[in-house]
Amino acid sequence: MERLSEKVWKDGEFIDFDDANIHIMSHVVHYGSCVFEGIRCYDVNGTPAVFRLPEHAQRLLDSAKIYRMEVPYSRDDLVKAMLDTIKANKFKACYIRPVIFRSTGGLGVNPFPCKVETWIITWEWGAYLGAEALEQGVDVQVSTWTRMAPNTMPAMAKAACNYMNAQLTKMEAITNDYVEGIALATDGYVSEGSGENLFVIRDGVIHTPPLAASILGGITRNSVIQLAREEGIEVREEKIPREMLYIADELFFTGTAAEVTPIRSVDKVKVGSGSRGPITETLQKKYMDIVHGKAEDRYGWFTPVE
Ligand code: PMP
Repeated sequence: MERLSEKVWKDGEFIDFDDANIHIMSHVVHYGSCVFEGIRCYDVNGTPAVFRLPEHAQRLLDSAKIYRMEVPYSRDDLVKAMLDTIKANKFKACYIRPVIFRSTGGLGVNPFPCKVETWIITWEWGAYLGAEALEQGVDVQVSTWTRMAPNTMPAMAKAACNYMNAQLTKMEAITNDYVEGIALATDGYVSEGSGENLFVIRDGVIHTPPLAASILGGITRNSVIQLAREEGIEVREEKIPREMLYIADELFFTGTAAEVTPIRSVDKVKVGSGSRGPITETLQKKYMDIVHGKAEDRYGWFTPVE
């Protein structure tokens, strides 16, 4: 296994990357009992700083609460642990992946006897959908796989098991030579990408699926909505019919890993002019200027690593 960092945080202690292993009898291996986060630390004018760290720590705790995992850490404890892990690895910019999972204690479906462990891993990770994608846009398909139905796997929890569904969407897309897939919700309305939220622009108005469309409540989604409203662009969180994707002027994905990535075609139908649209470009620039320290962090989105 390639060594991606020096130290891994495990329940209050640092262990060597090479020792960061779990037992095959862990509940998580058999039943997917894990919640996690994906967070970015940017090099902001020479200082490593983490984007919306308390919000990510809160979503992690929310995910754990939905699955009744007892976590002995507060939001502030997790924030500090993540900052310490970046420092311990001397990263200027990195991706941060805290995971909370059920380990040993029994292999019945009942998870309650199992230990709950919290780990934090950090490593360097570039543009998720490819460096060119940010400028050129990506080609996507509507997946034949549907997102989890309400009252099955809770979509608001960022749980490992949800990504079995996401993997089906992603594998199908890649096999068909697309970069990403868009999954519909069980009612046939648009939901999201396998690891991104979706925005649709038509006649100068931005539409994005609501929480009730089985999406993850993305933190980048929230940030971009704020930036758009500040630009005076109307943003509607409402159900989006699939056919809106084909007649949209612009489409883009948001996510911690994907940042703001334009979509240039859906099911081989060109989106608008077939390249990054003007509203997408404006919002992408505003977002990128903030995360790379070229614009002021007016919202207090960054936590510097001291
Ligand atoms: N939806 C899914 C399924 C995701 O995995 C992600 C990435 N965490 C997102 C949306 C975007 O969320 P965020 O902007 O918080 O990274």
